Amino acid sequence: MPNTLYDALVAPHQSNASPLFRLKDRPDWNYQDLIQAASRYAALLESVGTKPGDRIAAQVQKSPEAIALYIGCIKQGCVFLPLNTAYTATEVEYFVSDAKPALLICDETAETALSAIADCQILTLNGDGTGTLTTQAQTQSGTTSALPRSEDDIAAILYTSGTTGKSKGAMLTHRNLLSNAVMLREYWQFSDSDVLLHGLPIYHTHGLFVATNTLLLAGGSCVFLPSFNTDDYIDYLPHSTTMMGVPTFYTRLLSDERLTRDLVSHMRLFISGSAPLLAETHIEFEARTGHMILERYGMTETNMNTSNPYDGERRAGTVGFELPGIEARIVDPETRQEKDTDDIGVLEVRGDNVFKGYWQMPEKTAQEFTADGFFITGDLAKRDADGYLHIVGRDKDLIISGGFNIYPKEIELVLDDQPGVLESAVVAAPHPDFGEGVVAILAAQSGSSVDIDAVKAAASDKLAKFKQPKQYVVAESLPRNTMGKVQKNVLREQVKNTFTQV
Ligand code: AMP
Repeated sequence: MPNTLYDALVAPHQSNASPLFRLKDRPDWNYQDLIQAASRYAALLESVGTKPGDRIAAQVQKSPEAIALYIGCIKQGCVFLPLNTAYTATEVEYFVSDAKPALLICDETAETALSAIADCQILTLNGDGTGTLTTQAQTQSGTTSALPRSEDDIAAILYTSGTTGKSKGAMLTHRNLLSNAVMLREYWQFSDSDVLLHGLPIYHTHGLFVATNTLLLAGGSCVFLPSFNTDDYIDYLPHSTTMMGVPTFYTRLLSDERLTRDLVSHMRLFISGSAPLLAETHIEFEARTGHMILERYGMTETNMNTSNPYDGERRAGTVGFELPGIEARIVDPETRQEKDTDDIGVLEVRGDNVFKGYWQMPEKTAQEFTADGFFITGDLAKRDADGYLHIVGRDKDLIISGGFNIYPKEIELVLDDQPGVLESAVVAAPHPDFGEGVVAILAAQSGSSVDIDAVKAAASDKLAKFKQPKQYVVAESLPRNTMGKVQKNVLREQVKNTFTQV
């Protein structure tokens, strides 16, 4: 019986000795290195008693061994459960008690703290590939074949970032991951001659599945960097053909004058996602490099849903069209009726990419799906007359002031355009009269100051009175997580007493 993901991503490379990971401070890895390491890890998993379906939690630094561990888990029929390296032991305790992994793999420096909270076996894997996982795996022969796993079996659990409420474990099946990789390889035209510049974290869907699965399927290679660093990117861009990044990668590159047309003349594709790419970043990047960034949209639960076209207009400020085989619709949250062109509603998606459900949360899972099988993404969106989809924020970010619905994005677009404003975030603060009041946080462009009176005047020119911010705050920068998302929950907390007495 086949192992869906292993057979497609890894087995075809059984005798492929082409380069795979180009590494900065260590010898590079080829496909054989990955296959051997993954096979030894799989054999070790078996020898320590794990069974197909067991969860293997990994809070480890980015390394080729960490990818080999992911592949080893898949080969052994286990469920890979990567955890954000920033989580503290107390936070990891929740994931471990929820997922009940058979094995937890962590950095040596975290072993003592995690031993105190986890009652499963612990092995270590450090960023340089050393640790008890590797030493114990070295004694394994690694010649076993992949255990059977069907399309419906769970390949991975990724916990959502959980800025509101409890973090939920999204169960992703072999079908979910493979169908998306197959489609992305085709849509973005990845081939074995591609060199992907990879500086994304691998505990998240973007760096782990979108980047790695697509690359393995295409048989290409990548420059595998521990994280984003402008100097490294400037060094490696001339040796790469493609890059996947979050918007902050692009704004940081743009702020460096070494980013020129010449530097990227070898590149064929720049992709952005995980957070909104400002239209002005898209436009500035094209003016500087001649490349139109291809923006796509997805989430942990669904893999990738939409993309701007590979051939055809990549429209700034939009996330393009639904990918082949994936259905998307925008509905009114109350009536569930589909919205007309340009009307904002909740985005729902359906397809092989959509996850199986939240780990041990059948009720929560049921609430997030419609009767006809669409997943309610929680993102607010609209479709323009040409069919391009626009994401206008999360539904929980919607502001209701004096009974009126206010979409922060609409206000942010006006504020972003004002002289001296680099970017803005609009959030609600409790208001004694209106229920919620609009607060705008503005980050100034470097070397400029923001004239609040001028911004207010522009807002009153362009926005109905009820949408105009009642309070403006100027900040040095907006708080972002590692995936480049503005942390509105942090901002809401900071401004929560704006209109009320403490
Ligand atoms: P995550 O589960 O961490 O990948 O976060 C998924 C969320 O990121 C989505 O539900 C969107 O709110 C947001 N997101 C991802 N890609 C984009 C994009 N291109 N534009 C706007 N928001 C995005």
